Amino acid sequence: MNWKSILSTMKPYAPGRSIAEVKRIYGLQEVHKLASNENPYGTSPAVAEYLSACADQFEMYPDVYTSGLRTTLAKHHQVEPSELLISNGSDEMVTIISRALLQPGVNTVMASVTFPQYVHNAKIEGAEIRQVAMLENGDHDLEGFLEAADEQTAIIWVCNPNNPTGNFLSSQTIKDFLDRAPKTALIVLDEAYFEYVTSSEQENAIRWIHDYDNLLISRTFSKAYGLASFRIGYAVANEGIIQELNKVRNPFNTNTLALGAAEVALADQQFLNDCVTKNEAERNRFVAYARENQLAIYPSETNFVLIEVPIDADEACEILLQHGYIVRSGNLLGTPGYVRITIGTEQQNTGLFKAFDQLLTNK
Ligand SMILES: *Cc1c(COP(=O)(O)O)cnc(C)c1O
Repeated sequence: MNWKSILSTMKPYAPGRSIAEVKRIYGLQEVHKLASNENPYGTSPAVAEYLSACADQFEMYPDVYTSGLRTTLAKHHQVEPSELLISNGSDEMVTIISRALLQPGVNTVMASVTFPQYVHNAKIEGAEIRQVAMLENGDHDLEGFLEAADEQTAIIWVCNPNNPTGNFLSSQTIKDFLDRAPKTALIVLDEAYFEYVTSSEQENAIRWIHDYDNLLISRTFSKAYGLASFRIGYAVANEGIIQELNKVRNPFNTNTLALGAAEVALADQQFLNDCVTKNEAERNRFVAYARENQLAIYPSETNFVLIEVPIDADEACEILLQHGYIVRSGNLLGTPGYVRITIGTEQQNTGLFKAFDQLLTNK
């Protein structure tokens, strides 16, 4: 068959081990998955209530216009509903944006290392990929981005905070970049971890969409809202951008239950704030643990940390698995010598530190 030739060089997404698998393989009773940056506190209890109460009209297609969630989000963010697009997770947003803008002859600029789906989609669309090495502290090299970009640049991906480092760029830094970036390129600000940022140097970038008409902000319900299983992400940008992306979007890309669950979760800001407060306290414990043990750690503003390991990262993951902790090896993420750990609950983290101690005595 005539597959796109690039596919021969690509692999499907490799998920980490599941809890059930690890229990079986290692004969463990208790296993904690701290690998995918899911919310360890679950989701708002109002979501379960909503789901048990909604029991009709499953035979109907979802609302093509996603009017309910779009109107609610528009109010929440003080934008027009026409300035919003809802997707099947922000993963799908990356696909929609790439499909609309990338093709052979254009290029796309991003950091190395960053969220791998930008490269993945660019390959499929046949665009040239320009990766700019991160600075030593893990920040995006935005000066390098400007040097790499030209009139053929269709998309610039700014992942803020960045996955897998957790690094955060201040709003002032981003605005200075937007002022100088080519106006012909769409600047995607992927803010999957926006809600977790506690730095005082973060403004709500959604306020800027009328100042920069090539700016798109991507957010998700998967992380701080704890709705990863429902797959709801959204973009905020000026109407012209949303109109073009809507041509590419599958009409029924999100489902009725998920749209409803997201509305309910959005209404429970108390739950969100509690999660963010607990996450910050636990994040500080990781920083303290790294310092005590003289391990490098990137400055995270998210619900995960990228922390140095004293042995090979795959071996470190293996030892942590034996103790019932699933984390992500830096060897997979482009950061050898490090593992990415989702910040769990207080109890999970205490257990994780104990298991991590084993790596230190083994070195
Ligand atoms: C988790 C993550 C996403 C994907 O989130 P979904 O909405 O679950 O698809 C997007 N971007 C970054 C940087 C992420 O870490």
